[in-house]
Amino acid sequence: MKIVLATRNPGKIAELRRILTGFEIVGLEEFPSIGEVAETGVTFEENALLKAHAVAQGSGLPAVADDSGLCVDVLGGMPGVFSARWAGRHGDDQANLDLLLAQVSDVPEERLTAHFACAAALALPSGEERVAEGVLPGRLVRTPRGTNGFGYDPILVPEGEQRTTAEMAPEEKDAISHRGRAFRALAPVVRELLSS
Ligand code: IMP
Repeated sequence: MKIVLATRNPGKIAELRRILTGFEIVGLEEFPSIGEVAETGVTFEENALLKAHAVAQGSGLPAVADDSGLCVDVLGGMPGVFSARWAGRHGDDQANLDLLLAQVSDVPEERLTAHFACAAALALPSGEERVAEGVLPGRLVRTPRGTNGFGYDPILVPEGEQRTTAEMAPEEKDAISHRGRAFRALAPVVRELLSS
């Protein structure tokens, strides 16, 4: 059975293919008529569901979507759903990271606890829906380190690690990441719903 992953990111498609074996996972490039879905939700779950429903309706197939971000405890969980546009322009990773570090510049490092969070949603054309969440707890460092990954990876050190997620090999990060955890939690739910 075919499932559409609501992304044009080949890395995300490959990751979901590794986790959801037995299904044919395709990306949005097969559905050029489906446009960008505005992320108007205020939680990861709401945004993931918005995207999954839009793609399930647009494609007529089961759809999986995710939404993720960085939640910093001293900032009350922000940037959260605003992670990608924290500095004002969507997707400007460097500006987002610089602004975040400036905001917490006076906070002692031991108080800079934070986590990456991800909601993964499944929607069917019938309107049925399921959501699973995954987190990667850690702390922030003020001096960015590492060149792997994207976004806030150079400043998040997972619990029990000394390296930032940007210093980890991609498969090491996949194994513990918020996105990997959310997808792996969703996988049995997808199998159950689609086999019934
Ligand atoms: P999206 O879920 O792909 O829209 O990602 C939202 C934003 O959260 C990204 O632009 C990054 O700023 C941040 N983010 C989400 N996941 C990660 C991650 O694994 N590493 C670093 N930043 C992330």
